Amino acid sequence: MDAFYRCAGPNCGLLKRSTDRWWLMWTSFGEFNRPVLYLCSWDEAIAAKEGTLHVCGELCAQRLQSQFMGNVRENELRRSTV
Ligand SMILES: [Zn+2]
Repeated sequence: MDAFYRCAGPNCGLLKRSTDRWWLMWTSFGEFNRPVLYLCSWDEAIAAKEGTLHVCGELCAQRLQSQFMGNVRENELRRSTV
């Protein structure tokens, strides 16, 4: 059975069809001891992993990147004002 994937882009929610060439994004903290954003072309094994964001295209990838950068800045500000 094919899994259903929905785009994680803000205000998108597009449903992936089997022939669509989508992207994958995820964040990780462990490797460099800071939040890192990963982006790669579609891979079924990575897509099925918990925490992976499924992204329909460049625009949604940019929006998610912008969101990520905003969150990082916000956290830095919060930490520096404590
Ligand atoms: Zn999208």
